[in-house]
Amino acid sequence: ATPAATMVGTTIGAGHGVLFKGGDVLERAKDVDTVVFDKTGTLTEGEMELTDVVAFDSDGALVPDGGAAQQRESGDDAPAPSDAGRDAEREVLRLAAIAERGSEHPLARAIVDGAEERGLEIPEADDFENVPGHGVRAAVEGDEVLVGNRKLLTDEGVDASAAAETMERLEREGKTAMLVARVPAGTDDGELIGVVADADTVKSSAADAVEALRDRGVDVMMITGDNERTARAVAEQVGIDPENVRAGVLPEDKSAAVEEIQADGRQAMMVGDGVNDAPALAVAHVGTAIGSGTDVAIEAADVTLMRDDPLDVVKAIRISDATLQKIK
Ligand code: ADP
Ligand code: MG
Repeated sequence: ATPAATMVGTTIGAGHGVLFKGGDVLERAKDVDTVVFDKTGTLTEGEMELTDVVAFDSDGALVPDGGAAQQRESGDDAPAPSDAGRDAEREVLRLAAIAERGSEHPLARAIVDGAEERGLEIPEADDFENVPGHGVRAAVEGDEVLVGNRKLLTDEGVDASAAAETMERLEREGKTAMLVARVPAGTDDGELIGVVADADTVKSSAADAVEALRDRGVDVMMITGDNERTARAVAEQVGIDPENVRAGVLPEDKSAAVEEIQADGRQAMMVGDGVNDAPALAVAHVGTAIGSGTDVAIEAADVTLMRDDPLDVVKAIRISDATLQKIK
């Protein structure tokens, strides 16, 4: 494109909150044939909320629903929750929140906020370790507490099979379910004590963005560290084909996943917001960052969407197309 056309395109973009980092990016965007969305914070609001707390007793049996996660309304005619269940659930939530207090992860923030909203006291853990892509491990009141995915517990030798059905149910609802385990001091006998779940809201324009891209003949994919079932539930809500979902992708593997997608000559636009997404944004044909995302993502990207709106992905491609057609 001529410098004048590039200037016009860049200016039009800026007017829509679509910031192109230079003329070459503006030229490349029109060739995008595949858009790969990160899930959390990109297709979803990234504002997690605690939705469920489930307790298991030491025999691995499900403790009767105590309703601890519900903010109950008066006049609610659901069955009265059991007191024993409620106490057990509050203890699961309390331990999970203490363990998560040291984490900045949105999943962790929701657990801590949820516990505090329910009147629980959440002191700092004595020791804390973040296990990226899996969860946290912390020293709480003399015991070790684990909060995270199946892999985290398996690696610690904790049997989580009793929670399988509960996990699947929550995941089918599109929630991120996390296992909570306690390893008593001086032993290797970690036991499952419960499950907590967080839910996120899909952005209101996400489905329209996916539809508009498909109307243009652009393939739409999703990539996430979250598990397959939750990822598919969200994909279904926004209209992404289940076979286009790459779930359980570790932070360090996201860029390799984008390279694999591009290996057959595809020109992918990766859209993301997190530190995790930065390497993938850098290797994509076009990297697009969500404006409210992390600085690292914005630096790695070629385009920034100031309005955090997935529909602006379509706008970016259209502006590129229009700019380059005019000068032909
Ligand atoms: P995402 O791509 O959705 O940001 P991550 O790669 O950060 O996901 O994490 C992948 C999975 O690891 C999460 O879905 C969750 O099961 C688990 N996990 C990560 N961090 C935490 C945490 N602080 N507490 C509990 N579970 C966690
Ligand atoms: Mg994200």
